[in-house]
Amino acid sequence: MTVIYPGSFDPITNGHLDIIERCAKKFDKVIVAILNNPSKNTMFSVKERLDLIEKVLEQYDNVEIDTFTGLLIDYAKSKGVSTVIRGLRAVSDFEYELQMALMNRKLDEELETLFLMSSSKYTFLSSSIVKEVARFDGEISNIVPKIVEDAIRKKLKGDND
Ligand code: ADP
Repeated sequence: MTVIYPGSFDPITNGHLDIIERCAKKFDKVIVAILNNPSKNTMFSVKERLDLIEKVLEQYDNVEIDTFTGLLIDYAKSKGVSTVIRGLRAVSDFEYELQMALMNRKLDEELETLFLMSSSKYTFLSSSIVKEVARFDGEISNIVPKIVEDAIRKKLKGDND
């Protein structure tokens, strides 16, 4: 079975990686799908996010990385996939995720959303918190891959020039 793991991944963190690694073990193929949402203010462009994820995941041969715009149901249909994976951290994720899953099911009743519980060590990890900590020069080396850390530092340095 092939599954789609969609998200903003701005940038990818060890929390996302943990979900991807666990999916790669359980499913035949995982498509990591980066949402291209022009109205969202992101630190990294879609191309930059794609490059980072490709580098971080190069050793997985059953993980594909892709980008999409518009509705997830349309993207899933275009790939012939009917199962979507989302990660659940704290209770705070639940309401939004339930809303999205139910809306997607309403739009396409074939689409099923499966949830994976975050590992406890990554429960409080989000892309936003990583960027926030990095902005104040805090330590992020244990929560994002090295190349992501370098890319964030480079971005922040560039912003201040
Ligand atoms: P989105 O903007 O779609 O929420 P994110 O890139 O923030 O995109 O997250 C993509 C998916 O990964 C979501 O299902 C989110 O709940 C999950 N996720 C994010 N951080 C973690 C984490 N630390 N552990 C487990 N799942 C996570």
